[in-house]
Amino acid sequence: MKHFALATLWTLFSFGVAESQTPSTPRKETPISQELSAKQKSIVAIAGLTAKGDLAKLKDSLNKGLDAGLTINEAKEVLVHLYAYTGFPRSLNGINTLIAVVEDRKKRSIKDNVGREASPIKNVGDKYERGKKVLETLTGRKETGPKTGFAAFSPEIDRFLKEHLFADIFERDVLKYSDREIVTISALTSLGGVEPQLKSHLGIGLNVGLTASQLGQLFSVLEENVGKPEADAGRKVLAEVAREGGNKTVVEMKNENSDMVLSKPGSQAASLGPEQYFTGRVTVEPAFSGGEPSRVGAGRVTFEAGARSAWHTHPLGQTLVVTNGVGWTQVEGGPKVEIRAGDVVWCPSNTRHWHGATATSSMTHIAITESLDGRVVDWMEKVSDDIYMVPIK
Ligand code: MN
Repeated sequence: MKHFALATLWTLFSFGVAESQTPSTPRKETPISQELSAKQKSIVAIAGLTAKGDLAKLKDSLNKGLDAGLTINEAKEVLVHLYAYTGFPRSLNGINTLIAVVEDRKKRSIKDNVGREASPIKNVGDKYERGKKVLETLTGRKETGPKTGFAAFSPEIDRFLKEHLFADIFERDVLKYSDREIVTISALTSLGGVEPQLKSHLGIGLNVGLTASQLGQLFSVLEENVGKPEADAGRKVLAEVAREGGNKTVVEMKNENSDMVLSKPGSQAASLGPEQYFTGRVTVEPAFSGGEPSRVGAGRVTFEAGARSAWHTHPLGQTLVVTNGVGWTQVEGGPKVEIRAGDVVWCPSNTRHWHGATATSSMTHIAITESLDGRVVDWMEKVSDDIYMVPIK
């Protein structure tokens, strides 16, 4: 597997659920497997060079961006967005450079796509609250409690941030949140000396669907266009975010021949186990897909108390590693047994069985399954209460 393909993971780990099954918590804007596109790479260079004020190179990067399909309105939006992070002088110089580039291309008979304008803002609610909501979406955290730090000391700048940056600017839909974060991260990295802000924007970037690998590519583009010291300083902050992020990140450990993947709990969008195959509430979170020539994949599955799978078999068997709580499992014709954190269960191929939580406590296991011709499971009827509740002897 070259990249982290969420769709593939879902099919592999969701116990053979049809691909049309939609994850219940789609919180990512972009598929996690995406590389930075040529367009996004040009946004990185444009933002970095605008922040640096290197207008000669900015001209080149704007040309490359327009060649890569960036619309004039998107390029303009990148430069407008930048004023919040680099100040009006850099932003206006960038916009003037864009005007010159577009004029020059017109003279050379290059037909650039103007692209669509931002949709009119229909929400007439309180602007501060709107901005607050956008910020909550970006960070994935509720803004609760009294104001602290700079917001308490300077309520006006807190208001400017919420009303102007996060409402006025972010509500403009010419750029997606993830692209806006590419702009911000690139600008902050190029400015340097703003590590706390860079750190929080790297966190936001990961939260709105950018991957650690894409952020790695972002720093490579900056190294090429802006400089190695700036890129290295940015990489250091990203490493910190990955370390501290704990369950917020997927860490990809790559070299040119292989992708090792460290998948932290909570790093992937979880999906509900479908009613057809599960009793009670079950969440499935993909962990990794080995990719060819391997056929192994793994996912974390959490069963709430009382929840269990239907009867099923696996064409090539399955290993369960219990990581939390207490559960029950049973092979047809055998006794129901209790499984606890640390227990490892091997279920051979084509053996009818079920697994789940106990009636009173939840259970999480990592399910490691090999696929045979893309198939990991064959589902059968649900486990009745009579069978599920049989006392353990
Ligand atoms: Mn199983």
